[in-house]
Amino acid sequence: MTHSINDFNEAKQVIPGGVNSPVRAFGAVGGTPRFIKKGEGAYLVDEDDNVYLDFVQSYGPLILGHANHEVIRCVSEVMQNGFSFGAPTEMETELAKQLVSLLPGIEKVRFVNSGTEATMSAIRLARAYSGKNDIVKFSGCYHGHSDSLLVKAGSGLATFGATSSLGVPEDLAKHTLVAEYNSIESFKAALDLSKDIGCVIIEPIAGNMGLVPANKEFLLEVRELCTKNNIVLILDEVMSGFRASLTGSYEYYGVEGDLCTYGKVIGGGLPLAAFGGGDHIMKLLSPNGGVYQAGTLSGNPLAVSAGLMSLHLIKEDKGLYKRLESLAHRLTKGLKEGASKHGFSLQTEVRGSMLGFFFNEHPVTNFTKACKSDTELYARWHAKMLDKGVYFAPSQFETSFICAPMDEAMMDEVILKSAEALQEIKHDA
Ligand SMILES: *Cc1c(COP(=O)(O)O)cnc(C)c1O
Repeated sequence: MTHSINDFNEAKQVIPGGVNSPVRAFGAVGGTPRFIKKGEGAYLVDEDDNVYLDFVQSYGPLILGHANHEVIRCVSEVMQNGFSFGAPTEMETELAKQLVSLLPGIEKVRFVNSGTEATMSAIRLARAYSGKNDIVKFSGCYHGHSDSLLVKAGSGLATFGATSSLGVPEDLAKHTLVAEYNSIESFKAALDLSKDIGCVIIEPIAGNMGLVPANKEFLLEVRELCTKNNIVLILDEVMSGFRASLTGSYEYYGVEGDLCTYGKVIGGGLPLAAFGGGDHIMKLLSPNGGVYQAGTLSGNPLAVSAGLMSLHLIKEDKGLYKRLESLAHRLTKGLKEGASKHGFSLQTEVRGSMLGFFFNEHPVTNFTKACKSDTELYARWHAKMLDKGVYFAPSQFETSFICAPMDEAMMDEVILKSAEALQEIKHDA
């Protein structure tokens, strides 16, 4: 690990914490982040030439795995003609058309560069459309790092948000109410707290507190209450979009958002995200309407071509989601059995190519329960898995991902290594 250790020390001299996104610093598990030299299919190679089977997949985007040859070919071709024009291109319309035809309830889409931008813009639009200022989010859901969303719950069934980051004015946080995920009572309590709620934002399949899917009745009831109270419902599918299924959460719930946000997979690993919805709302966006939203690099040809080719390959591979889901089930089942053999209890979930697990005695349905998981055990397990060449996220509260180049033999190898790791942990104790 000499290279990674040196690289990390050097990075810390010039980059806060040595990283450009906090989870990468390995703060939750300890140890040194591996500096990555390259990715190849299902594998990562670090600067010390260690090879890892990668279940992080850049935190979701790489459903086709690293460095997919056809995406590379397509992006390289497009690149010859320039990187960005600040003018419209035919490709953007093509990708927009595909999203509109694929995704229920989406009539218009706008492209942006990150999930954070997509949710931030969608919330502005929702506030404008509803004419109301307050928004509701759910504990444990992550929607990017814009000011209004960096809030946490106070104590109570539902509360006005308290800032979860320095630098966010309380004046802003007080417009965000926080409810408990999968609790309709808590959501109703939030609706009772303010008459000025114009927007609810939710991950229909939460992937940022570990993998915690919404309960179906809960999501249906949230949908119904939003409609009844003239509240714009934003389904944040930045992670679940094209991951849980080709149509994201829709396949599981049949619930349409008034606005939906996409990111990660849609850019195939390049910076691309989108938000979309019915024309009655989307027409409020500038230049047609009065809601300002813009971006110098938005819809740039490199990201859009990566998105188009990724979507093409995903659609072409008819059995893709079924196959990835069955690999995910095989893996979680094996991990769970291996854990229980050594006296540890593991809670697992699968949605398409997304999977999650908690070292926890009880089923996890919300953030409070997720937080009762054994993070110390996860940290020890994580370090041992890295040593054995398996790269899981450096935090228990992340989703893991199956990518197209993975196969059953890889799952079985991980299952074996995990059981070994837990046996060693038991032995060490
Ligand atoms: C990753 C993520 C975001 C933020 O996207 P960035 O591209 O990191 O800004 C927003 N919402 C959800 C559900 C996400 O998983």
